[in-house]
Amino acid sequence: MPPLPSLTSHYHQLLGLPPNWNVENVTLSITGKQIEIRLVYTDKQAECPECGQLCKIYDHTSEQQWRHLDTMQFETIIVARLPRCKCKEHGVKTVRVPWAARHSRFTLMFESFAIELLMHCSSIKAASSMLNLNWHAVDEIMRRAVKRGLNRRESEAIAYLGIDEKSFKAGQHYVTTLNDLDKGRVLEVVEHRTNEAAKALLESLNKKQQEQVKAVSADMWKPYANAVEELLPNADLVHDRFHISKYLSEAVDAVRRKESRELDQAGDKRLVGSKYVWLRNPENMREQQKVELSNLMACEFKTSQAWALKNMFRYFWQLGDTDGASFFFEYWSRRVDEVGLTPLIEVKELLQRHFDHILTYFKHAITNAVSEGLNSKIQIVKASARGFHRFESYRNRILFYCGKLNMAISS
Ligand SMILES: [Zn+2]
Repeated sequence: MPPLPSLTSHYHQLLGLPPNWNVENVTLSITGKQIEIRLVYTDKQAECPECGQLCKIYDHTSEQQWRHLDTMQFETIIVARLPRCKCKEHGVKTVRVPWAARHSRFTLMFESFAIELLMHCSSIKAASSMLNLNWHAVDEIMRRAVKRGLNRRESEAIAYLGIDEKSFKAGQHYVTTLNDLDKGRVLEVVEHRTNEAAKALLESLNKKQQEQVKAVSADMWKPYANAVEELLPNADLVHDRFHISKYLSEAVDAVRRKESRELDQAGDKRLVGSKYVWLRNPENMREQQKVELSNLMACEFKTSQAWALKNMFRYFWQLGDTDGASFFFEYWSRRVDEVGLTPLIEVKELLQRHFDHILTYFKHAITNAVSEGLNSKIQIVKASARGFHRFESYRNRILFYCGKLNMAISS
């Protein structure tokens, strides 16, 4: 039975089709719970997808399908054979369709809806089952969305960057992230933590964007410094104070482990189990912990001296300018030498070697604090999907959820 003319024109309107595409047929399969909308191209000519010239139709492709938004609870499919036109310049080409992106198996409306749902659903699995899509289909929609968003970001100036690393899988497998410190978003993720990885991160920005970067916050690690120097002509490198504080904490802990072991062997258990007392900042301690700490400090352990030096260094960041900071650093370095604990001396020497890029903090006042916040968001992405076999999917999901990209489909 031929469809009612009102039904075909209704779908023509719903799909927002231009006049050269017609709804030929709408079939409903009650048992298959499916609606099939068959479209035909009605013109004798079509635009070459390369140059936009109107060309003669050469032939048609075989039937292709696109998943559309469901009609009521019925899965809705668009079916069409696409005209191929013959362009004088570009040869035989398949025309673009107004309802779907190139190579997509979904209509633009379906993709828009899927993106919205994925964005607002707490679990990708829940969104996939609502959309009745498998893992690969979801992956494809996200990949396309991220690509669209990245293309739109090309014209933006980004002044302050943070480079950070985090573990990807168990063991020594790392990913390195590039973050926008002002907007609190992830700009790019690359696999590994190498010279090449650091360069690839910064090369994700175009030439103009690279010139607009004012400063980069990162750990004291040579490949980061090399990449910044090579690719960002106007940027200062600022060694991140949270990374520095971590080195100092590790040094205190190394002193404690050694001293605790030595005392323990002599039957003195006072340092056993004290690890976390030394690692917390005093202002974050509960009353009980403050008492414990002051009791330990009274014993004049080497660990107490290391702890005091670590905490003394916190004043460094509060000094207003490079002169004051340099003066303080010299004073602190002398104290470290006097106390003579190897782990602290090693950190002091590390800071001395990188001192120029530590002083830049007083010009830009940036840190990786934003990156830390993003790391916990990435952790959620990681937890929401059991094991990523391909790094590419992991990257896409991080950028989809933490990239603050404009992924909207504009038709
Ligand atoms: Zn052409």
